Amino acid sequence: MTVDALTRTAEWPGLVNPDGSRWHYLDTAATAQKPQVVIDAMVRALGRDYATVHRGVYARSADMTLAFEAARRKVAALVGGAENELVFTRGATEAINLVAQTWGVANLKAGDRILISTLEHHANIVPWQMLRERTGVEIDVCPLTEDGLIDLDAAERMIAPAHKLVAFAHVSNVLGSTLDAKRAVALARSVGAKILLDGCQSVARLTVDVKALDADFYVFSAHKLYGPTGIGALWAKGEILDAMPPWQGGGAMIDRVTFEKTTYAPAPQRFEAGTPAIVEAIGFGAAVDFVQAQGLATIHAHECALVAKAREALGRMNSVKLFGPAESAGILSFALEGVHPHDLGTILDEEGVAIRAGHHCAQPLMAHLGVPATARASFGIYSDESDIAALVRGIERTKRIFG
Ligand code: PLP
Repeated sequence: MTVDALTRTAEWPGLVNPDGSRWHYLDTAATAQKPQVVIDAMVRALGRDYATVHRGVYARSADMTLAFEAARRKVAALVGGAENELVFTRGATEAINLVAQTWGVANLKAGDRILISTLEHHANIVPWQMLRERTGVEIDVCPLTEDGLIDLDAAERMIAPAHKLVAFAHVSNVLGSTLDAKRAVALARSVGAKILLDGCQSVARLTVDVKALDADFYVFSAHKLYGPTGIGALWAKGEILDAMPPWQGGGAMIDRVTFEKTTYAPAPQRFEAGTPAIVEAIGFGAAVDFVQAQGLATIHAHECALVAKAREALGRMNSVKLFGPAESAGILSFALEGVHPHDLGTILDEEGVAIRAGHHCAQPLMAHLGVPATARASFGIYSDESDIAALVRGIERTKRIFG
């Protein structure tokens, strides 16, 4: 199937306005709209096929368990991992908190250091600060290059044996800049540090192979991958996951419970206390099937072409400032001179165009850019040139209003 076929609004109920016209949705980096196949898979799982997993003795529960574990296999395979290395979490945020509070607490101590970067999402900053409060670890921040990439030359100069973890975004949710992940892993390895990659913005467009990369932790959320909210994934190297202590306690994560002593299930179940997000996991698996059927390279090429067109169109307006590199993975942040991004976003909304305006959960990056907020247009598989045309019309109108 071509991208053109997939951009038909009928495949994407979320893109249709009540009057049947197209909603120009340019906020895919916040959360992606869902294709009908994902919605259908979830409706079936919530209705006709619904049952609990892992403990039912009846056939429907056994079937649902198979479907749930098949979804885990698909999600793990999406990043080149094995199913026993894939923990379902509530999202990337929970995955990073899990690593900080289990691996981090067990392995890091005062004097150890963590290297993050200026462009990180709060989800890849705050859990490490909380760990700092608990353990006394120090956090170092790697600067960016002029065009908004994590500056790996600077990282090379900064990294030291005290660094036990490097935690970088694979793709920036504000600038769309893509990390040279292989080089980042090599840097971490050069001092014996582990590396966590935040794959929230990469898994829906880049082919990721955690084994080829030799990453230690890779985290992402289903809802940015055309799947549902409420579920995400932590992939971690088998030997690391096996050695990690449990996090939340309760049902499903145990081997045997007595009042004297409880033993725990092996990974990944050890990290999945309680009844899991069953329907969401099925939706996650369906979303993985969907992007793989389309082809990540096709999606990436489609989005890169749209970003290039949008940069060109916006770049022609002399009152628009563009942020980030020309080579951006589906994301374009910009500022309109003399207009707060929130005002721009409000006027664009009147024109049927949805952008994100704000700090994008990256306040330190905003401080670095010297702005309180940016406007951000982000693209997905369903985006097309009519979205860019509507964006340009909306910006022109905003300029007229603000004179
Ligand atoms: N990291 C990046 C780069 C993101 O874009 C996001 C979501 O905005 C997150 C982490 C957090 O993801 P979630 O809110 O789904 O846990």
